[in-house]
Amino acid sequence: MGCLFLAYCKGGPPIEVNVLDCAPVFNHNSNGLITHVATGTTYVSIGPDVQGTALDTLIRNAIADVNSATSGQRVSVTFQATTTSCSALGVTNCISVGLGSLSNSQCALSNLINDSSTGIIANSTITFRSDWASFSQNRMQRSAAHELAHHLGLAHNACTASQSLMQANFESVQCTATSGFATAPTIDDDIPFNKTVYNGGTENSCP
Ligand SMILES: [Zn+2]
Repeated sequence: MGCLFLAYCKGGPPIEVNVLDCAPVFNHNSNGLITHVATGTTYVSIGPDVQGTALDTLIRNAIADVNSATSGQRVSVTFQATTTSCSALGVTNCISVGLGSLSNSQCALSNLINDSSTGIIANSTITFRSDWASFSQNRMQRSAAHELAHHLGLAHNACTASQSLMQANFESVQCTATSGFATAPTIDDDIPFNKTVYNGGTENSCP
């Protein structure tokens, strides 16, 4: 588990710092910008092949977990499930979710298209494997949360599967795994930041 402790600038106020077990890794585009969805609401459009299934519920659980983890963490993104298609919504801040065939090691896969000059994801899909029902539900929920975390800019890291949703060694959390992995964001999946406890937490650096 990570922890929170107070650091002190010389002669200055204390700063709360999140201490992480392992370093988060960010996805950068060719211009070195972190790729992420725009601030505000990003719709998660649950396709007809998923609507009303157990997977639909698991995706909505993952959305709630990710929204909860990012709330108050200076990540101004809220995911919102919808059954309306992205094209019918007519917005670019929308992820199309559906089923497809994936390789054996993959439970789900994101395809993110970002603007190279801003890093903002303007078009994306999340594909879950068609035979998702033959795998454990918590494993599929992990995948849903993992793919949403990619949309917040996180890439695969060197954490263990229980420490982070973004564990890189995919073999140990392969789709057939039933336990031993995080199913919701951990502190290691939060966008790292620091804040002072002074001035209502508005100061982000030493005075
Ligand atoms: Zn991934």
